[in-house]
Amino acid sequence: MRESVAAALGANLDDDPWRERPLDRVAAFCFADRLGTLLWRCKYQNDAKAYKPASLLLARELPQGMTLGFRRRLASQALTEWIFPVCRRCFGAKEVVIGNLRATCPACNGLGLHRWGDLERARAVKIRDVARIGRHFVRLSTVLAEFDRSVAAIVRAQLERLQ
Ligand SMILES: [Zn+2]
Repeated sequence: MRESVAAALGANLDDDPWRERPLDRVAAFCFADRLGTLLWRCKYQNDAKAYKPASLLLARELPQGMTLGFRRRLASQALTEWIFPVCRRCFGAKEVVIGNLRATCPACNGLGLHRWGDLERARAVKIRDVARIGRHFVRLSTVLAEFDRSVAAIVRAQLERLQ
């Protein structure tokens, strides 16, 4: 765990053991609540055991009016998209090799990210009403994006302190 955070921060783990390190602050933030802990383990530690509990907790962010099974499928899909956002063709490289030439990846137009459409999401969560899918993902994407923003803000602040 410390090694992965240290790598993200470019920090040295050989510091004085009694001094508070930047990565200690990042870790403290990430482990401030259960969902944050699980999200960190899923995305940054590739911990498969954290996926199911993270998905179940994320499902609680959706309105109670939907069936539990539907909320769980939506949360699982949102989590999968968040953990593995890269383009399925170039795997994030943004370009592909065609013959002897390198070209901008035609699947993602050089973004390196997979573009999920409502139809693809609807199929993944097994619903026919494609029009409903988008707004559900807005809520889940907001939760996941807030986590990313908070982690990035803390990492940035710590990096500024190191300079
Ligand atoms: Zn691509």
